[in-house]
Amino acid sequence: MRRSFVCGNWKMYKTPSEARVLARDIARGLRGDDGRVEVAVCPPFPAIAAVAESLRESPVAWGGQNCAPQLEGAYTGETSAAMLVDLGCTYAILGHSERRQFFAETDSTVHEKLEAVLGCGLTPILCVGETLEEREADRTSEVVGRQLRGALAGLPGPEIARSVIAYEPVWAIGTGRTATPDMAEAMHREIRELLATMIGEDGAEAVRILYGGSVKPGNAADLFSQPNIDGGLIGGASLTASDFLAIVRAGCSTE
Ligand code: PEP
Repeated sequence: MRRSFVCGNWKMYKTPSEARVLARDIARGLRGDDGRVEVAVCPPFPAIAAVAESLRESPVAWGGQNCAPQLEGAYTGETSAAMLVDLGCTYAILGHSERRQFFAETDSTVHEKLEAVLGCGLTPILCVGETLEEREADRTSEVVGRQLRGALAGLPGPEIARSVIAYEPVWAIGTGRTATPDMAEAMHREIRELLATMIGEDGAEAVRILYGGSVKPGNAADLFSQPNIDGGLIGGASLTASDFLAIVRAGCSTE
């Protein structure tokens, strides 16, 4: 049985001082039964230490939004997996479409980053998803399949099984357009079937597959009630404690 997971991606929003307050408000707003859902937030790197202070006594985990593929060295501006571990991170988001689009990340860089993150004991949240153009050209399965195989090929089965996948159709990110629950479920099922060909059915059944793309308090429950949607990666709506907590509760109601 997979435990639902709701993770906030704060992108390049929130200074360390603002992040400390948002994290505190999220932690304070959690109720007893919210524990049925695993909750995490991924602030910008400079805010991680402040967020860690706010969350240390809470059940909320935290992570980075990216990670260098190299373990250490003369790589100005980069942050290593070991640094994230030292900050108490549990997760690292990898291959987000904004990184692919604006920072030229390819499937092979994402693969290297996965190796670095898994090697340090962090849990990767691997993002995959098609653009509108690709969907309209009926290339969604091909693109998502390529991203998954490119990122995961050659990794040991147990490492893949403990990873989290986020299916995020690019056309739904920050646009207010959401995949319908049926559309999202169809892709999640396909992703799980592909994972089964790589690591076997038991391994694939263990992998949590999150949906991301304009998830809001009003649409979260319908999405999360689908059998292969195990929670969400939340951008815009994770920047307001009340909205994020409402989404966490939508995850509880489908448990
Ligand atoms: C994201 O950035 O991962 C995301 C899903 O953003 P939004 O919820 O704002 O669409």
